[in-house]
Amino acid sequence: MIQLIKGFKDILPEDNLLWQKIEFAARELFEDFGYREIKLPILEKSELFARSIGESTDIVEKEMYTFEDGSKGTITLRPEATASAVRSYIQHKMYAKDPIQKLYTIGPMFRRERPQKGRYRQFYQIDAEVFGIDSPYIDAQIILMLVTLFERLNVPDINVLINSLGCPECRPNFQKALLDLLESSKDNLCEDCIRRVDKNPLRVLDCKKEGCREAVKNAPSIIDYLCSACEEHFDVVKRSLKKRNISYEIDKNLVRGLDYYTRTIFEVQTTSLGAQSAVAGGGRYDGLIEALGGPKQPAIGFAIGFDRLSELLSQTVESVETGPDLFIIAPDSEKDMVFEWACDLNLSGIKTDMDYSGRSRKSLMKRANKINTSYVLIVDERELSCGNVILKNMNDSDQKEIPVESLVDSVKSVITG
Ligand code: ATP
Ligand code: MG
Repeated sequence: MIQLIKGFKDILPEDNLLWQKIEFAARELFEDFGYREIKLPILEKSELFARSIGESTDIVEKEMYTFEDGSKGTITLRPEATASAVRSYIQHKMYAKDPIQKLYTIGPMFRRERPQKGRYRQFYQIDAEVFGIDSPYIDAQIILMLVTLFERLNVPDINVLINSLGCPECRPNFQKALLDLLESSKDNLCEDCIRRVDKNPLRVLDCKKEGCREAVKNAPSIIDYLCSACEEHFDVVKRSLKKRNISYEIDKNLVRGLDYYTRTIFEVQTTSLGAQSAVAGGGRYDGLIEALGGPKQPAIGFAIGFDRLSELLSQTVESVETGPDLFIIAPDSEKDMVFEWACDLNLSGIKTDMDYSGRSRKSLMKRANKINTSYVLIVDERELSCGNVILKNMNDSDQKEIPVESLVDSVKSVITG
């Protein structure tokens, strides 16, 4: 038997009830905030990710699924959506029509990481991005939107962590102070982090290994190094969140795994998912649009880990799969007629199934119970000769005679009450 690839998974019909509920809630909320859906390709030129995510990130260094595409160079299965959204904003000159664009997208991402619970090689994200607004109010608003989604879905045990990464003006000062600390505790760092010290020291703060976490415990706080503009920006974000009663913690060691972030960054964590505690992450990335060849426009966004969110909710929400409204049992000789009824009922909004097997009525009543149908329509030859069929309510076993003449309307009016 051919099995699926390690790190990939099927999302089965019974799980999709919850996935649909989450997706519906997200779409409804985002659209109320003025976000419009964008669908982006799953494959992009590798260069797009190398340039946006950063050469010295785990994703680009070792996690991308990259293929040769004939003579056209290499293409990559997208590991995240932001780079593509920015590419699209630039390519379609969306900014010429209106520099302010609020977009969302939902779909699969691919990273060749070590598969484990909550960490897959194909996973899904719900992604929201705002281009063209540098105001800190939009930072607060996007965090509010994210937290509201979690509240509406009754997600248990969440923490909102925020931090500011400063800007190209103030970050170098912090980076210098951080480097001093890292150089002095290099012996305690993992191999990856020793490399990061030279290439991208901020990323050491993001390492999940115990030794590295310990080493950066007393790292300087970037917030102490913010320039006045970044400090003012962060103050408005904090003040606005407080006003909206959104609880958050400032985590001085919070950085994002991708290179392009500036100023406000945030993460939603949970205590209920074991090691994979981040359910959503995001932040401001004011330099990226320009770095990818677009106009100088600020941007902010987040990505929710759809798989982790649904795992989190499946611990508390029991989604009950409902059976059909109606199951039709009829002798073989009546199949032509019954097929017509079933089609008409389906088309009029009654979730109808019929038997195709011609098995005995007794075994079909068993099946009716198994599929948890609300009603059974029994076509009995004797009843039929009087122009009737029997509609049985499976809840209370009540039976009604239904005239064949007005079958669809009569059945519909009983079932929909
Ligand atoms: P982590 O710290 O768990 O590796 P990350 O910082 O790499 O997460 P982002 O790139 O910010 O994650 O992506 C946003 C969200 O996508 C994460 O908070 C997480 O919920 C989800 N996510 C990231 N990688 C995976 C994965 N391999 N499998 C499932 N979900 C993932
Ligand atoms: Mg990661």
